[in-house]
Amino acid sequence: MGENMGRYWTSKKSKAVVEERRAEIDLLIDFANADTTKVANQHLETRILDHLYRHPALHPDNRDWKPDGKLANIIDAMQGHLRSRFDIIIENKQMLAEMPLWEISGSVSFKLDPIKNRFHERLQLRKVKPGNEINALKKIMDLWLIEIIRDLDSSPRRFGQCPRCGGFLYSPTVKERIYCSTRCGGAARQEKFREERRAQDH
Ligand SMILES: [Zn+2]
Repeated sequence: MGENMGRYWTSKKSKAVVEERRAEIDLLIDFANADTTKVANQHLETRILDHLYRHPALHPDNRDWKPDGKLANIIDAMQGHLRSRFDIIIENKQMLAEMPLWEISGSVSFKLDPIKNRFHERLQLRKVKPGNEINALKKIMDLWLIEIIRDLDSSPRRFGQCPRCGGFLYSPTVKERIYCSTRCGGAARQEKFREERRAQDH
């Protein structure tokens, strides 16, 4: 395709990576805000778990773990964990000092891929004992979030929380979004309009 002509400042590869990561941050935000008791949100949960299980940093022995009928517990744990990560980003954003967000321990390997002519850096988590698999998945969630933030070269200001419904949001452009959706934005505008009219009536 010739559409990329003129986009000389970015390679096709990095543009593809950015688009993929954008879709991933939208997925994570949707999952964090989702009512997991609703069947309609199951597709989000499937995609999240699929990504976590396939992540190369997960120890191979923990990858084959099959939870016995406790899927809802895992979903809740992952959602709670993700929400706590967004909370801490938003909390730190309002401070004038750095605070630790999170740490991931594991080993880093560095490889050269002569065919793709690239260097690869890979974090590998340690194997967790049976029963601790959820902790491994939480670490993968942390790592995934770091990868997205790094690939998007994301500024903390892009993360926010809707003042109307409390839902998390991510501003894809430099212009900061205030509300999570056009629905919340419209409702807030309407409320303001009604308040102004009430004030005029008195
Ligand atoms: Zn909202």
